[in-house]
Amino acid sequence: MASYERLGADAIAVKGRLRAHKWLLLRRLSQVGILVLFLLGPWAGLWIIKGNLSSSLLLDSVPMTEPLVFLQMLAAGFVTPATTAITGVLIVAGFYLLVGGRAYCSWVCPVNMITDAANWLRQKLGIKPTTRFSHHVRYWMLAMVVLVALASGSMAYELINPVSLIHRGVIFGVGMTWAVILGVFLFDLFVTRRGWCSHVCPMGAAYGLIGKFSLLRVRADRREVCNDCMECFVVCPEPQVIQPALKGAERGIGPVIVAGECTNCGRCIDICSKDVFNFGTRFFK
Ligand code: SF4
Ligand code: SF4
Repeated sequence: MASYERLGADAIAVKGRLRAHKWLLLRRLSQVGILVLFLLGPWAGLWIIKGNLSSSLLLDSVPMTEPLVFLQMLAAGFVTPATTAITGVLIVAGFYLLVGGRAYCSWVCPVNMITDAANWLRQKLGIKPTTRFSHHVRYWMLAMVVLVALASGSMAYELINPVSLIHRGVIFGVGMTWAVILGVFLFDLFVTRRGWCSHVCPMGAAYGLIGKFSLLRVRADRREVCNDCMECFVVCPEPQVIQPALKGAERGIGPVIVAGECTNCGRCIDICSKDVFNFGTRFFK
């Protein structure tokens, strides 16, 4: 297993520090840039985008609706054929069908910065795996969220959804933002590695379902030069998705990471000193 102290050292030696963090830096730019876009309205009166991550309007004309929010609206009976949210969810789902469902998680969602920080500290402090539970819990959570909306006729989960709370809290400066941030951080730090995003979050699960069919994929096109350093498994928030594409050649499995849970974060590309991974499509390089 790769040692945490040396993690990334080979990639930096071969590619240089900047290239060895290229996708990480671009992701942070994207996450912060999107927050700033939302803040420009209330802070500077520059309304490029109105609303929040759950539901927004770009340039006063393009509606965008978050898929899990839409599913709850549908189950709660808030959707009529004339609802703008239908156009909004089609636009958002169409976009993520192209760029990867869980690209939302690593390129847009503000919670990702918190869970990445918790994971970094967890590795730094050498906190060993504590509680273990299935990665599939999130899909049960997703079903439960929709069932609760159906039974209650309300979007009850939005009252506690960390993504919505944090985003609204940062933009409008209200709510339990700091308590939610701390709760998610401590959960990931002490309960289980990548606890919230890779095990529990129903919003990530919904994007994971879209991701099963999405076009843009990470591919292990140069898997024959893999030296088994295992660093990609250490940095990946969903390491279970790598194995088939990286090690499946003898079993006739292709080099494309096809699991919907891959977040297209690009950390496996950054960290690999052998340039095994690259972005491509599910059909060709
Ligand atoms: S899993 Fe949920 S909280 Fe985590 S990045 Fe994705 S949407 Fe955000
Ligand atoms: S396989 Fe690569 S791109 Fe996908 S989640 Fe893991 S590190 Fe990120």
